[in-house]
Amino acid sequence: MELVELLEDVNKILNNSRYNLSDGIYQPSIQRDRRNVYFIYHQNNEKSLIVYEKSQNIRDFEFSESVVNDDYTLIKGPLNFFNNKALGKRFDWINPISRHGYKYTIGLGDRLGIASNAHLKLLKNKDVFPVLAQQSIRELLLSNRTFTEVIQAASWSVFEEGYIGGWGADGDHVKNEYEIDYAIRSGVSMITLDLTENIFVDYLDYSTEALDAEYDKLPQKFRKQIEEEYLNKKMKVNDNYYIEFSKRDLEESVLVFSKGILFVKKINDNFVVPFGIDFEISIDEVSKDTTPMQHYFFANELKKINIKLETLAPKFYGEFQKGIDYIGNIHQFEEEYEKHEAIAEKFDYRLSIHSGSDKLSIYPLIGKVSQTNGWHVKTAGTNWLEALKVIAQVNPQLMLDIYKFSYDNLDDVKEFYKFNAQTNGSAPDPRRLSKKDAEKLLINDDTRQILHTMYGSILRYGENNEYLFRDLFFDVLDKNIDKYELLLNSHLAEHLDLLDGTATTKEEVLMKYEHG
Ligand code: ZN
Repeated sequence: MELVELLEDVNKILNNSRYNLSDGIYQPSIQRDRRNVYFIYHQNNEKSLIVYEKSQNIRDFEFSESVVNDDYTLIKGPLNFFNNKALGKRFDWINPISRHGYKYTIGLGDRLGIASNAHLKLLKNKDVFPVLAQQSIRELLLSNRTFTEVIQAASWSVFEEGYIGGWGADGDHVKNEYEIDYAIRSGVSMITLDLTENIFVDYLDYSTEALDAEYDKLPQKFRKQIEEEYLNKKMKVNDNYYIEFSKRDLEESVLVFSKGILFVKKINDNFVVPFGIDFEISIDEVSKDTTPMQHYFFANELKKINIKLETLAPKFYGEFQKGIDYIGNIHQFEEEYEKHEAIAEKFDYRLSIHSGSDKLSIYPLIGKVSQTNGWHVKTAGTNWLEALKVIAQVNPQLMLDIYKFSYDNLDDVKEFYKFNAQTNGSAPDPRRLSKKDAEKLLINDDTRQILHTMYGSILRYGENNEYLFRDLFFDVLDKNIDKYELLLNSHLAEHLDLLDGTATTKEEVLMKYEHG
């Protein structure tokens, strides 16, 4: 179809008629602003941006074709960085924003850059703010992507779906100034500061004598002041919950967190405040659970130096392994979670739950306990597993090949991810599987974890300058995008239904999604 033929469509849109538009015009993307028209056009598996504007303004855009119509020009251009910036000047809602003021927010971190459309279609009718872009440096390196690419992919999806509700971009698990600077200059609206390297949980294993000795090295004036503040007191969290610090609790909190607090201040002063960044802190990737006392101390000390958080991710009781349900005693989790929630409410931020994908059995509880104050849940990797479901259905041999490669090369990820399938040898030997087993690989916990953590190696694997899996993989997805969107849609809907605060049990919700 020639570009000039789209002029007729533009006229229809200007006359408020959206019937009988040409095939390829993606309806949800149509924007009209005075006599200007914008939309995404699909042709031969490729997407273009169509803009109709006053000729003097059209130079903002890069384009390959144009048609002049009086003092207006119609152009067709690529979905690239420059056109995104030009569009972002006209439609502010395609730029990422802070989560501030939104109660329920979810991190979706699309690893492949193709899941956001499906997510937005679902979220249009929900009261949940999406953080569509959410990548750590580790994930970027494993998937060969940059922050710019990730944010761009999300922003184009937002425009394409006409999603005006606001969305976020998270520089996830950034650990130092270099990473933070890179994330912010690439355009993230939020950072998750990972404090792992600045907090010292080893002290928690010290004997009382050793801990005392370490603590006594601190300046006496500082100790005196902090003891007066915290010891022999009932500190009110809420009407039903008071916290009391033992000497040991206090010594642990001080030694574990003091250096981290100074680091937070530095990041806050140099980046968060000047750039107006939405701020999350994560202390979830250490080996020890965060106790309520430690949480309280950390929050209180941050408050004293005037640091405002949107969210905090403590290390909760239990195991949050990637791609499978929560492991641990749920009642114990509930008891601890309620305390952390009370502390978060006192200090005016929300709890953030990391590795939230598939933690379905604790979702009703989180939804209920955090219903008033709100929550942030990060799910990321399962978009990838949903994509593999499409592969398993459409091309089972490719699925088997991918699994065999993953099984044989698991050492690639052992320093990044810890999970059971690496050690207990319970994952099936790929040499004994046949095509009919392909779909089962996405149900079994061990094989899910293997496939989940190996995404980077799978997508990057190549021989003789050719990707062995990547091209085939994207080819299958491109041709079956409807299937993929359906899977993503019900997967996310299931998570959100469980989190909505009124769900009673996991089973009840799962029935709806025929998990059985
Ligand atoms: Zn985390």
